Amino acid sequence: MVHPRVLRALTTPLIGHMDPAFLGVMNDIQALLRAVFQTTNRFTIAVSGTGSAGMEASIVNLVEPGDAVIVGINGVFGTRWATTVERCGGTAIRVEAPWGEPIDPEAIEQALRRSGPVKALAIVQAETSTGAWQPLEPIASLCRTHDMLFLVDAVTSLGGAPVEIDRWGIDVCYSGTQKCLSCPPGLAPFTLSDRALAAIKARRSPCQSWYFDMALIADYWAEGSRAYHHTAPISMLYALREALRLVDEEGLPARFARHQLNHDAMIAGLSELGLFPLPSKSHRLPMLICVTVPPHIPEAEIRTSLLSTYGIEIGGGLGPLKGKVWRIGLMGESSTEAHVLTLLNALEELFIRHGWCSTPGVALQAAARVYSRTAS
Ligand SMILES: *Cc1c(COP(=O)(O)O)cnc(C)c1O
Repeated sequence: MVHPRVLRALTTPLIGHMDPAFLGVMNDIQALLRAVFQTTNRFTIAVSGTGSAGMEASIVNLVEPGDAVIVGINGVFGTRWATTVERCGGTAIRVEAPWGEPIDPEAIEQALRRSGPVKALAIVQAETSTGAWQPLEPIASLCRTHDMLFLVDAVTSLGGAPVEIDRWGIDVCYSGTQKCLSCPPGLAPFTLSDRALAAIKARRSPCQSWYFDMALIADYWAEGSRAYHHTAPISMLYALREALRLVDEEGLPARFARHQLNHDAMIAGLSELGLFPLPSKSHRLPMLICVTVPPHIPEAEIRTSLLSTYGIEIGGGLGPLKGKVWRIGLMGESSTEAHVLTLLNALEELFIRHGWCSTPGVALQAAARVYSRTAS
């Protein structure tokens, strides 16, 4: 869901992308993005395109033919990232974990012992396809010890859980606007450390993408130069500024706590219906709950009923999890007590009708207990 203030911002009358007033909008976005990324990185911008544009930009700028990159793979998005590395002529060293589990730092060390020099390590913080949370601190220290650039996909996490660029020494990080930032899809927040900028400067060959060449785009975003590169998506930038203002007004700690509370309440309710999260307790995303659907439940049919009868859309499984899990997003504006209780009520009713649940109210009561515990 998108806040009405963001929808209204989308309708702001258009001005030129070199208009001094618009350059002010860009400055605001950069400052607000630095706050949400918890960084002082000068190079913090919004790339034109969805989250995958951020992914593509991270690789085309930092990876040259022949470079080796370790990519953590435990779901759809790590897999996509590895293929991007290969399309750029790099070597993707795949370090895998079962879907639903985080990447084990020990497995990365093993891969490093077997390989030659590795330029970068790429890892997804919040795997939206499995609901698995990747702790980044142990990986950050590996990157420092082995002098690898540290690339992080924070598409689903940014604005819903801590993404601490400076504290964790992350060199390249991107996100998307339509997940926990609650803005329409179309921009990819993107930040580069000085180390990443130096690596871009030291390239042997020009960036293979003209559109995503950060050395060129830097001149448009940098105060003082503002050279035309491509026409900025003006309306989307208006919307992003407003969405980031809303994040700022709520404050990061309060926002993270809200995501966690609604997550806890949803899990308490789902568990009463026999729906248990795929990832272990210590590795669950606050903003996306992935539960295993028991084999006797026709999962696609239930999702269709939820949408047609209750107007609620939840996600099915991707890849090997297709038909086996539900993925329930509680992101940004959508992470509310009302949404939790509405979905639990709808599921309870459908489960009772099919005879999979015999005690009306169990799921709602379990969720309500979580909320009252926090209120008291
Ligand atoms: C959604 C998502 C992407 C891709 O973003 P698009 O906006 O769909 O291009 C990349 N990585 C993760 C972890 C995502 O959840």
